[in-house]
Amino acid sequence: MKRSAYRKSFIIRSSHKDDTMEQIQVIGVRGLPLIHEGDNIAAMICKTIPVQDGDILCIASTIYSKAKGFTKPLASITPSKRAQRLAKLNGEDPRFVQAVLDASADIIMEHPFILSELSFGHIGVRAGVDQSNIEDGMLIFLPPDPMKAAVELQTEIRTLTTKDVGIIITDTCGRSFRRGQTGNAIGWSGFCAIRDFRGDTDLFGHVLKITEEAVVDEIAGFANFVMGESNNGVPAVIFRNCPPWTGHDNLYFTTEEDITKRVLKTNDTLRTK
Ligand code: GDP
Ligand code: MN
Ligand code: MN
Repeated sequence: MKRSAYRKSFIIRSSHKDDTMEQIQVIGVRGLPLIHEGDNIAAMICKTIPVQDGDILCIASTIYSKAKGFTKPLASITPSKRAQRLAKLNGEDPRFVQAVLDASADIIMEHPFILSELSFGHIGVRAGVDQSNIEDGMLIFLPPDPMKAAVELQTEIRTLTTKDVGIIITDTCGRSFRRGQTGNAIGWSGFCAIRDFRGDTDLFGHVLKITEEAVVDEIAGFANFVMGESNNGVPAVIFRNCPPWTGHDNLYFTTEEDITKRVLKTNDTLRTK
């Protein structure tokens, strides 16, 4: 019953005039321990803060990956010739570079840093491989299928609490054109990624032709702000009273659409031989 109520609220309404927007509550989940392989993060989060139907729960990819064991000791990695070459070029540890290459489905750029495309469509600096918020000498990889991870967490929480929440798995990412990292959504479940304004009219009656709002990234960005990057210890953030939206899930450009990727891939100065 609760499940259908939630779904209904997220699908049926099509108006973009949202008078509940002013009442959004943002709650950082503080008090969780350091996460280790085998931990049930869904249960740990729900025990710390009871969730409600319709909540959007943002979870740092870092803790999901630690809980699922998507981690590796640097010392266990043997770098290939390519990793050694790129490590020298970019001034990095060849074993770390090998981990980045292993985590990448495609390398968009080799230099001055590695820009990777991951198999699930995300493009990120150094394939999102992290060395922070884990023991010395350990690497954290992004979840290989964060969309599946989001569905899995949503289902676990429904089973545990009977509450129907939406999930966003976040990661801190660099971006083009601007300095500074922001939170991005790499997996989501319970709503669509993009709020589609095309066909809607502005205050003057003009029909919007282009505007698609990447809502999951906007929420991930705010969640990232609440999480912080270093020792804050807030790996999950709840958004309560978000109004529903409608749209679609095509967050990633197709190869044909992605002009930036095409330009980078054909620029020889960004690659070595
Ligand atoms: P990423 O953005 O997914 O790469 O994750 P970050 O390393 O930036 O961490 C995001 C937030 O989660 C920060 O507030 C960290 O301090 C916190 N965090 C990371 N790992 C843990 C953990 O194992 N336990 C707790 N309680 N917080 C963590
Ligand atoms: Mn990260
Ligand atoms: Mn972060």
